[in-house]
Amino acid sequence: MKAIVFREGSQWAVEDVDTPVPGEGEVRLRIIRTGVCGTDEHLLHGGFIAKLPLIPGHEMLGEVESLGEGVTGPAIGTVVAVDNTIHCGECGACLKGRALFCENFVSLGCNAPGGFAEYVVVRAAKTFPTLGLSPDVAVFAEPTACAMHGVDILDLAPASDVLIFGAGPTGLILSQLVRMAGAARVTVAAPTPSKLALATQFGADHTVVVDRDDPSAAIAELHTIAPKGFDAVIEATGVVALLEHAVGLTATGGTVMVYGVASEDARARLSPYEIFSRELTVKGSFAQAFTLGRAMTALRSGRISVEGIVTDVVGLDDFGRALSNLKDSGQVKTMVDPSLWRA
Ligand SMILES: [Zn+2]
Ligand SMILES: [Zn+2]
Repeated sequence: MKAIVFREGSQWAVEDVDTPVPGEGEVRLRIIRTGVCGTDEHLLHGGFIAKLPLIPGHEMLGEVESLGEGVTGPAIGTVVAVDNTIHCGECGACLKGRALFCENFVSLGCNAPGGFAEYVVVRAAKTFPTLGLSPDVAVFAEPTACAMHGVDILDLAPASDVLIFGAGPTGLILSQLVRMAGAARVTVAAPTPSKLALATQFGADHTVVVDRDDPSAAIAELHTIAPKGFDAVIEATGVVALLEHAVGLTATGGTVMVYGVASEDARARLSPYEIFSRELTVKGSFAQAFTLGRAMTALRSGRISVEGIVTDVVGLDDFGRALSNLKDSGQVKTMVDPSLWRA
C-alpha cells in the first residue's frame, strides 16, 4: 500500500509499504480521511513521542475492511472513528488509574503506524461507528476528544468567563466545548481575522486580533473586556509570551490552562507571587483519554460544529501541501484522503 513515512532528519516520502495484517483483537480499516494536525509537524522533526521511521496520522476515519482473529465486530463495511491510544493496563501508571501516562503508551500515528496511508490496523474495541454521522464531521472525533479532555481537566464552574488564545481547529472546538461545560461568556484571541470569524460563527461573544510581533494592544483590549480577569484562560497556541500574559489576565482564584504544545526546552516567566497571592491554579492538558465516545456524542448533537474548519483535502502524493498548509495562516485544517491518490 501507499503510505507517508517520516524518517530521521525531518525527511518524509510517499512509500510502498506492506499492507498491515490485523492480529487478534484488531481490525484493518481502509482510510477514508485522516486529519493533519500541528502535532504531525512536531513528529516530523522527531518531537513529541515520535518513533521514527513512522507512518503518521492520528485523526483517523476509516471503513472496516477485514477482521483479525477473535473479532466479531464492528462488521465489515462499518465506518468508524478511532481512539488511537493503547494502554497496557498493567504498568504503575495504569494501575493507579492514570492510563494517559501509561509507561508503555502506544499512540497510533505518533509511535506506531497511523492513518496517512491507504490502510491501518487498529484495536477493534477502540473503534467508534459513525452511525451515519457525515465523514466530514466524524473525522473530528479525535481532536474533539482531546479538547474534551482539556475541558474535563479545566473543570469549569457554571457561568464562567473564559478566554481562549488560539483559533486553530482546537481553539475553535474548545470555544464551543467550554460553552457546553458551563461557560457563560467566551472570548477568543488569535492573529487571523478569518479564523476569528469562524469563532464568532461558532458562538464566541468576543474576538480579539493578536499581533504576533507585539501582542500588547490585544492584551490591553482583553483587560478591557474583563477588567477583573477571566475565570479561566486557555493557552492553546504554544506561544510562551501568551502564557506569560495569561497569568495577569486570570481573575483571582481563577485557572490558567496550558493546552498548546511548546517546545520541550521552552521556559516561561510567571510571577510566583501572583500565583500565590491571588490563589491561581495552573493546569496542563496533554492528550485525549477515554473521551472519544463523548466527543462523538458532542459532534452528533450538532452543538459542536466543524462547518468551515476544513480548508483543504489532499491525496498522499500532495502531503507536502498539507505540511505547508500548517504554516499558512489562511488555512485552518487539512484532510488527507488516500483515494485521491488512486483517482
Ligand atoms: Zn492532533
Ligand atoms: Zn500502562
